[in-house]
Amino acid sequence: MAYQVLYRTYRPSKFSEVVGQEFVIKTLVNAIKNNKIAHAYLFAGPRGTGKTTIAKLFAKAINCEHFLDEACDECENCKAYLEGNHPDIIELDAASNNGVDDVREIIDQVPYAPLIGKYKVYIIDEVHMLSTQAFNALLKTLEEPPAHVIFIFATTDPQKVIPTVLSRCQRYNFSKLSLFEIKKRTSEVLNMEKIPYDEKAVDEIARMAEGGMRDALSILEQCLAYNPDELRISDIEKIFGLTSTKDEVEMFLKIHQNQISEVISDLRSMYSKGVDTKRLALDLLEICKDSLIYSDQGKETLLSKISPVEAQEIINTVSVQKLLKDAKNLEEVISREKQNENFLVYLELCLVKMASGNTDVVLPVESPVGKQKETVEIKETKKEKVEKVVEEKQKIQESFVVEPETDFLLSILLDANKDLKINDQIIYNKLDLFRYEPEKRKFYQLLIGTELFASNKDAIIVCGNKTQANNINTKSFNEELYQFINEEFGIDKMVYGIDNDKKNELISLYKSTPASKRNKPVYVEKYKIEKQKELSEEEKLINIFGEGVRVEE
Ligand SMILES: [Zn+2]
Repeated sequence: MAYQVLYRTYRPSKFSEVVGQEFVIKTLVNAIKNNKIAHAYLFAGPRGTGKTTIAKLFAKAINCEHFLDEACDECENCKAYLEGNHPDIIELDAASNNGVDDVREIIDQVPYAPLIGKYKVYIIDEVHMLSTQAFNALLKTLEEPPAHVIFIFATTDPQKVIPTVLSRCQRYNFSKLSLFEIKKRTSEVLNMEKIPYDEKAVDEIARMAEGGMRDALSILEQCLAYNPDELRISDIEKIFGLTSTKDEVEMFLKIHQNQISEVISDLRSMYSKGVDTKRLALDLLEICKDSLIYSDQGKETLLSKISPVEAQEIINTVSVQKLLKDAKNLEEVISREKQNENFLVYLELCLVKMASGNTDVVLPVESPVGKQKETVEIKETKKEKVEKVVEEKQKIQESFVVEPETDFLLSILLDANKDLKINDQIIYNKLDLFRYEPEKRKFYQLLIGTELFASNKDAIIVCGNKTQANNINTKSFNEELYQFINEEFGIDKMVYGIDNDKKNELISLYKSTPASKRNKPVYVEKYKIEKQKELSEEEKLINIFGEGVRVEE
């Protein structure tokens, strides 16, 4: 039996089967009924929210001969669609076919009438990835489209679509699905597959999917590949590098028991094993919330994550004021994640803050001078301890960051070309695939939020903020990243991180370089980080004059 991935098997074949996006569907259905179909549509919204699915269903519906709220599934057009070979529904994935030739190939066919349907429908997925030339080629057709042609563009990044295209489209914004919608559909799929499951496991999948139904089903798929007979929360934790609630409660207690250095080193090792740190922060917040509710209400039924025993232990150790402060700190750090900042650093600082908040309440209001002094001293030492941990951590990190030299980066730029860059862009186009892969998630975390700046035949320069650049240039990460892109994409290049300041500096240096020196292949020896080490005088001479100068011993 041929195996089909879940999200394909359970891809809706009718509007009524689509999860969420009721408003979009209603408007589209009305447009068909009232015969008010536009020539170009833009479906914008986060991944996995149904853009391509609805585009296909719309293409089927407008060609159906007996449309009535849904396509009939019986006419010649519907049958061709259901068999997956309707000749007038043409799809292009701009993530992998973004060149001008790819676009020309399809628009050359635009003038010809549809073969069996009323309309020729072109569905272009991830349209923002088309090259400028490809966009321009498309634009000519969009300006004067034949009556029988409809374009549906889908994009996760509408701000990257050029305004002249945007202004010719009817735009629909797709929203993320709610936890409830995702849970409902995931349970339905499990029931149809006759697989037993715990509610907690489905909850966790819905949370991890972050509003995308396709993500939910691919997460489910990976779980079932691991254990095809049942879906259990313990398996999900194992597969996705989630920490168990028991470990998280332990961590939470340790933070408040003055064991912060241990917590930080645990966190570091979790990160290197690919544990999802954002998930961890959200879980700690939920532990906080549960404990607060339990301390106030004492009701078991209101606990969503931890057991009453765990809640009691936390309340015995951590005061309500501290829990409130913790919640505030955690909320703050979680909001950082959305800005694609380096999350690990902020999470570590947050935990340190939580631990140091612990010392604030020690000071007694009225006490003999001597005793007060003693308490102050204790407070100081604890504070010092925390500062020391942070300081040491920063030192360790900095010592392994090997910042590439400006001259070297410039030589890459002078040798860079656009084709190589387009080629290497595949790393970013496919980055999402690694988001839920336990072993490779760290590369997703390392690169997400950065962008490809330049490529030559030996190297790639990516631009992000200072922390992101430092992380990429950190010796151990950098070596692993080199291996990763080599194994996954067959790209044998080193990756160098720069921040915006460096980027601007490089651009102005590049501009001031005479045109005759640009884009000429300058031979750059494959740059290995080890070569950055200071060379001895003798080695420098050997580099220039050869072995002959070596001093005989
Ligand atoms: Zn039909």
